[in-house]
Amino acid sequence: MARFLSPEAEVLAPYAPGEQPQDRQYLKLNTNESPFPPSPKVWQALTEAEVERLNLYPDPDCGPLLDAIAKRYDLSRENVIAGNGSDEILAFAFRAFCGRGIGVAYADVTYGFYKSQAALFGLNATVIPLRQDFTLAVEDYLDFPGTVVIANPNAPTGLALPRDAFRPLLEADPQRVVILDEAYVDFGAESCAPLIREYDNLLVVQTFSKSRSLAGGRVGFALGSPELIAGLNRVKYSFHPYNVNRLSLLAGAAAMGDGDYFRACTEAIQESRGWFTAELEKLGFTVLHSRTNFVFAKHEALPNGATYRELKARGILVRWFDAPRIRDYARITIGKREDMEVLADTLKELVSMKRESR
Ligand SMILES: *Cc1c(COP(=O)(O)O)cnc(C)c1O
Repeated sequence: MARFLSPEAEVLAPYAPGEQPQDRQYLKLNTNESPFPPSPKVWQALTEAEVERLNLYPDPDCGPLLDAIAKRYDLSRENVIAGNGSDEILAFAFRAFCGRGIGVAYADVTYGFYKSQAALFGLNATVIPLRQDFTLAVEDYLDFPGTVVIANPNAPTGLALPRDAFRPLLEADPQRVVILDEAYVDFGAESCAPLIREYDNLLVVQTFSKSRSLAGGRVGFALGSPELIAGLNRVKYSFHPYNVNRLSLLAGAAAMGDGDYFRACTEAIQESRGWFTAELEKLGFTVLHSRTNFVFAKHEALPNGATYRELKARGILVRWFDAPRIRDYARITIGKREDMEVLADTLKELVSMKRESR
């Protein structure tokens, strides 16, 4: 028992971020960052004059950033809240919409942070297994009497459901909050943001970390009914009123305003993903149908973390989860096309080496 820890801190389940090793230069394809720099508009927004203003607190309401987000989704400011990454927004949501008597349900194979948050807030968590083929069946959640959180597209599988699949869940119990984590939606899936006007129990959470090249800026947001957003603000103003810093507010608004750059980046990723998936399949990999900026793949000659270990030894980092059902898979971030070509060549060598040694 640790000397200084509260009983609440002793039962925590801290999230393990992907490695960020400093020992050598790796080709980093393990944390689903964008391989592209932020939009040039972000550079223009971060002026010397703005750096000088860092002596002042930022706008706690995040006004201009909320307006830029609202405009993009054809909503109003009351429908939006911004956070220090979407992880913070998820924390606000878990605190606001779960608690004593209101449990939370999520999938067995999904974003690991949900489990950490549930432990942080002492929630009763129900884990609902994905189907055999890793698809999520919304029917499995209809009778759950609490808050539901679903990543769509899911991570680390990369699989997505269409927008209309969520209607039965939203309608089954209008008192129940449904949190859809759309961190990867911009890479070819359907966002549920347009459903917000129809369902006041729907919270859509998104991030600037993946599709808008701002993982280091820590900007996330949620879209929902004014009632849900007010609930999140209640938690925010109890925890950290100045949650998004001055420079990130500017960077976020500028990035959201540059639709052309956003489209160019997300299309390039989807193009590379298509090419890389075909290469993997030629090599005998099984690849789940990804709608994200990563692929989830396995090869019978490279089981139980072998892809991860062999690639790391060759200077390429991918993510491996030593967890039931997914131990044989590697999650590979889609980087620039030339990076994926290097990776495809390396995997080709690896697979033929393993085949010869058998
Ligand atoms: C990356 C990710 C997030 C959080 O990203 P932030 O950097 O905190 O905005 C949330 N959900 C999923 C599923 C993710 O993969």
